Amino acid sequence: MRFKAMVLEAFGEPLRMREFEIRELAEGSVLVRTLASGVCGSDVHIAKGEDPRTPVPIILGHEGVGEVIEVVGEKKDINGEPIRPKDRIIWNRGIVCKKCYWCTVAKQRHLCPNRKVYGINMTCKDYPHLLGCYSEAIVLLPEVEVLRLSHDIDPCTIVTASCSGATAMNALDSLAEPLVGKTVVVQGVGPLGIFIAVAAKSLGASTVVVIGGSLERLSVAKEFVDVSLNRRELSEEERKKRVLEITHNRGADIVIEATGDSQALLEGFNLLRRGGTYLVTGVAVPQQPIPFSVYENLVLKGITVQGVWVSDTRHLIQAVNIVASRSKVFEKLVTHKFKLEQANEALECVEQRKALKAVICFE
Ligand SMILES: [Zn+2]
Ligand SMILES: [Zn+2]
Repeated sequence: MRFKAMVLEAFGEPLRMREFEIRELAEGSVLVRTLASGVCGSDVHIAKGEDPRTPVPIILGHEGVGEVIEVVGEKKDINGEPIRPKDRIIWNRGIVCKKCYWCTVAKQRHLCPNRKVYGINMTCKDYPHLLGCYSEAIVLLPEVEVLRLSHDIDPCTIVTASCSGATAMNALDSLAEPLVGKTVVVQGVGPLGIFIAVAAKSLGASTVVVIGGSLERLSVAKEFVDVSLNRRELSEEERKKRVLEITHNRGADIVIEATGDSQALLEGFNLLRRGGTYLVTGVAVPQQPIPFSVYENLVLKGITVQGVWVSDTRHLIQAVNIVASRSKVFEKLVTHKFKLEQANEALECVEQRKALKAVICFE
């Protein structure tokens, strides 16, 4: 069988359509026909060579939903259900080693230093090639953890659970206290920020505030958050004033960075109450250090700062459940759909922040 895929052959150059042949696969592998492939903000960085993990050539795309073409031997999903042809599935994009300290002792598998990720650090140079989602088909290696999905939800909607959704859930799952009754400020209204805002609201946050700079994105967010602040209309001082007004002058219980820009932390520290928690989720590529006062920002306020790196299967399941229970909301997040051969346009659209969420759809 032959399948087309969009390949990054050199950093900074457009993806090119290539064809790959799939012959026999290892026992436990699953060959999947791609139904939806999310275009993540990280893909834009990866294509430029800004992610130190990425080799070329590579088929980009780490967010996928697909339909099973073939299972080699037997394979069960994480609920113990056998996987069969025509099943609709989603999977954990990362493969961990299950042997290192993080996998076995710390139980923080997403931090496994040997983690391999579809579309990020798995080259298409060697057989079975199809290890990224910007492709008509994907080969899921035997180690991949898979979840069968119901056919009720559009693949282009549920794919939002894959990377931004799962990472959002990793952030919220890492909180020491439940979200019930908390005031949450989310910096950034991209797919990650919106997912966090919707999930925080679903999990009982009393007030969710989002800060963003794109009118289109803010207007989508407005429908399901309590307060949206446009940073192009309000100065940093004015935004802080609004947050203090909402919180009886204390500041937010939880601030979540989802902008992808380290500079956002300088504002975030000022929006947080004493003893609050700061989750830093959006910064996914190396950036310049930022100056902050350890005494005033950190110690005097007694805050907790938690870096959030990628996600595990647990978070993927949480994200799928959130999308399934709020599918009408998440449908609206997918503002731009592309065909596989338009992958370069899709990347450009995400880079220019035109799309809230762009998805390559294969129907
Ligand atoms: Zn991603
Ligand atoms: Zn490991």
